[in-house]
Amino acid sequence: MPTSREEGQAEPDEHHPTILHRGGGGDAAGGSGGRPRQVWVPGPVIVGAGPSGLATAACLKARGVPSLMLEKDSCVAASWRHRTYERLRLHLPRCFCELPLAPFPPGTPPYPTRDQFIAYLDDYARVFGIQPHLNARVHRAAYDAAIGFWRVTVKEDSGGDGATAANTEFLSRWLVVATGENAEPAWPEGVEGMDTYRGVAMHTSSYKKGDEFRGKNVLVVGCGNSGMEVSLDLCNNGAKASMVVRDKLHVLPREILGVSTFGLSVFLLRWLPIKLVDSLLLFFTRLILGDTEKHGLPRPKIGPLQIKASTGKTPVLDIGALPKIRSGEIKVVPAIQRFTENGVEFVDGHQEDFDAVIFATGYKSNVPSWLKLNIYG
Ligand SMILES: Cc1cc2nc3c(=O)[nH]c(=O)nc-3n(C[C@H](O)[C@H](O)[C@H](O)COP(=O)(O)OP(=O)(O)OC[C@H]3O[C@@H](n4cnc5c(N)ncnc54)[C@H](O)[C@@H]3O)c2cc1C
Repeated sequence: MPTSREEGQAEPDEHHPTILHRGGGGDAAGGSGGRPRQVWVPGPVIVGAGPSGLATAACLKARGVPSLMLEKDSCVAASWRHRTYERLRLHLPRCFCELPLAPFPPGTPPYPTRDQFIAYLDDYARVFGIQPHLNARVHRAAYDAAIGFWRVTVKEDSGGDGATAANTEFLSRWLVVATGENAEPAWPEGVEGMDTYRGVAMHTSSYKKGDEFRGKNVLVVGCGNSGMEVSLDLCNNGAKASMVVRDKLHVLPREILGVSTFGLSVFLLRWLPIKLVDSLLLFFTRLILGDTEKHGLPRPKIGPLQIKASTGKTPVLDIGALPKIRSGEIKVVPAIQRFTENGVEFVDGHQEDFDAVIFATGYKSNVPSWLKLNIYG
C-alpha cells in the first residue's frame, strides 16, 4: 500500500509507492476540478496482470526491484478467466507456456486446460507475492521529458460499477506495457445489415460452452483457432455449426510423429532456413491431414511460418475440427454478403437462417488508445 508523505517532508520511501498529493477528485488529464491523487512509484509501473505482467514482476522481484502492477479487472489472469471458453486447453505444450522461475506443478498434462493454467497463474502471483492494484484501468500514460518520469493515469473503480471512480496519477521512471494483444474483441466492420439481425450475436470472448446451443443452427464467423474450436464445441454439444471461411489458411496437425508441431518447428529453425522448414511441415501435414482444399480450406502459397513471421498470423493447430469438417458435421460456408433479419446472405447468393451468430473475428490491442509518447517534452 502507498505510504503517505506531506509536502516539504523527507525523501519518498525507496521501496514503497509514496503518496505525493492526496488529490481533489479532479481530472488527471487536466480537466476541471482539483488535482488528482499523485503517487510516486520507486520501481517500474507494470500495466496488466496477465502472464506477461506477472512474469515481469516476478523477475524484477527476484533481482530485488520493486514494481507496481495496475490491472483493469478484479483479478489476475483476467483474459484467461473471463474471456475464454471452457473447453480451451493451451495450444502449445506447457514447456513453451510456463513463466520464468516456476515450472508447472508435477502431474500437469502436456497441454494444460484453461482451469489448470489459471490455477498456475494464481499460484505464481501468490508465490512471488505479487499483489496488483485491481480495478485500476490505465486510461492514459505519457512520458514527461521535463522531469524524466512517466505519468500513468488510472481510473479506479472501487465499487466495481464505475460509480465511485476516482483518478490517480502514478509517477515512475519506467513503464512496462503488458496489456496483451487480446485486450479488446475485434468485430467485423461495415457488413451490411448487421444491426437488423434479430438472432443471438456474440463474440467468442463471451462464449463459454456449446450446450446452450443444442439443436440450434449456429453460424461461426472466422476460421482461426477460436473459430475452429468453437465450431467443434458446438458440434460436440448437438448444435448445427456452419463456419465462414473467407480467406486462405494453414491448418496443421497439433503433433507430427508424436512431437508438437510448434516444438518441431522451433527445433528445425535452428538448423534450416524457414522456407525449408515450411516445406517439411506442409509435407507431413499433407500425409497426416490430407488435402484440406478439398474440404473448402484452401492453403496460401506462402508457408505457415513465413506468414507468421511477416504478418503475425498464427496457423490453426487442428484438435479435432477437421474430421468434423470432412464428415460434413461442420459445414464450411463462404464469406457473408449481408445480414438479414433471421440470418445471412452469403457472397455466392444463397441465404440461410441462423439462431445465433458467433464472431470468431479475433482481438486487438488497446494500447494506441492510452499510450501517448512524450506529450510534455
Ligand atoms: C482462445 C485463445 C487461446 C490461446 N491459447 C494460447 C496458448 O495455448 N498458448 C499461449 O502461449 N498463448 C495462447 N493464447 C494467447 C494468450 O492471450 C497469451 O498467451 C497470453 O494470455 C498473453 O499474456 P499477456 O499477459 O500478454 O496478455 P493478457 O493475458 O491478455 O493480459 C493482459 C492484462 O492486461 C489487462 N489490461 C488490458 N488493458 C488494460 C488497461 N488499459 N489498464 C489496466 N489493465 C489492462 C487485462 O485485463 C489483462 O489482465 C491464446 C489466446 C486466446 C484468445
